Amino acid sequence: MPSLNPIAMGRILSEYPPPRSNVVLLSCMDLRLVDELASFMDRDNLTNRYDHLIMAGAALGVMRPGHDNWRSTFFEHLDIALKVHWPVEDIYILEHRSCGAYAKFLDAHFGDSPKEQARELKTHREYASQLAEEIQAWAALQTPINEKPVRLNVRSFLMDLRGDIELLGYHPARPTASASKNRKNGAAKTGKKSRRATS
Ligand SMILES: [Zn+2]
Repeated sequence: MPSLNPIAMGRILSEYPPPRSNVVLLSCMDLRLVDELASFMDRDNLTNRYDHLIMAGAALGVMRPGHDNWRSTFFEHLDIALKVHWPVEDIYILEHRSCGAYAKFLDAHFGDSPKEQARELKTHREYASQLAEEIQAWAALQTPINEKPVRLNVRSFLMDLRGDIELLGYHPARPTASASKNRKNGAAKTGKKSRRATS
């Protein structure tokens, strides 16, 4: 692991297992948080193991109505990243507080009170969840790469201006069509209901 810049080292406020394979990261372009972002990825066991896609507003940039060209650009880059740096099992969506793109695209301005901070988090979570769903719907349509099905866990995060990070949401990979079929068959034999793998 390279030496870390302690000034850029925010706290990771949530607990989750670090990814084991390569990752694709989507973040905003914000110039204030570049070092903090690299520091976070280093500490998630991801030094030199992620492709970094950047769109103003991160999830909002991709999901905003009328942004079809941004959305197709994102998925074309995701496709290339998976094929070039396979295997990839996890996607990181990194949102941040005080985001200028949210202000510009949504006219969304958030104050410093706990209520306003909660409203800001909720807004980011909504767009990150929408994108996570879109990524997993896309993944389900992809053909296997090197005979391995495309199954993507999606984690979304919110970074504040100190670089502190909290988990916004976790969308585990959907089962592949064949795995889902096998499980249903197994459930039919045992008389048990199949359980959804996603929450
Ligand atoms: Zn931003």
